[in-house]
Amino acid sequence: MIIIFLLLGLIIGSFLNAVVYRLNAVESLMERSHCPHCSKKVRWFDNVPLLSFILLSARCRDCGEKISWQYPIVEVVTGIIFALIGNYFFHSFDFASWTLTAYYLVIFSILMVIFVYDFKYMEIPMLVLWLGVGVSLAYFLFADWQNFGNAASILDLQLISGIVGGLVAGGFFYALAAYSKETWMGYGDAYLGLLVGLVVGWPNVIVALMLSFTIGALVSVGLIVVSKKTMKSQVPFAPFLITGTFLVVILPQIFPYLRYLFF
Ligand SMILES: [Zn+2]
Repeated sequence: MIIIFLLLGLIIGSFLNAVVYRLNAVESLMERSHCPHCSKKVRWFDNVPLLSFILLSARCRDCGEKISWQYPIVEVVTGIIFALIGNYFFHSFDFASWTLTAYYLVIFSILMVIFVYDFKYMEIPMLVLWLGVGVSLAYFLFADWQNFGNAASILDLQLISGIVGGLVAGGFFYALAAYSKETWMGYGDAYLGLLVGLVVGWPNVIVALMLSFTIGALVSVGLIVVSKKTMKSQVPFAPFLITGTFLVVILPQIFPYLRYLFF
């Protein structure tokens, strides 16, 4: 089963690369992929996730231009994320796990697009972000409706816990962006805070924020040490926030004792 999720992730990852590219180039998603250098259409047998990149030795078959490492990296990472979600959340005999798994696959695909887009263009694609908010609200309404009788407190309702988490993270980043006049954070990060807070809910959003800032600090120090960046250079924050969010979702599944720490 884990192999099926891995393969699905590789294929979806390949699609997400195309989404990132076409969001920026404003092209239709229905068109066949083409080489950004020579514009020749990519042959179907050269469009196999990961495998084609290796077989073509990272070069376009037509013009020999190098293919960006972004493509195989996003495919493999999406594959791994899908495999982890499938492995830890999917139980074939439990219907509720089907919808939860589907929700996580969709939302982390959306977050993957935002991750790569912000990394490349230093900008949050708002259309994709609001799609994530809409998908989350719809899923929470459905899950709460299924589970209403079991909720002991109002925060056990995912809709409520999600909205509180979203307002806390979104409000926090909004305040940082306003106070620093967008030098520490942009308003785009505030909207992303809203989305990731919604996904992990209250109080997990606090752990997600702490993890994001820790990872961000470690990576920034690392970049300064290898002197690729200076203290002043802008580092997009979305990748750290999204990494922190995924860790909050998956780590307590991999290491169950962490649940006592997190929740
Ligand atoms: Zn080419």
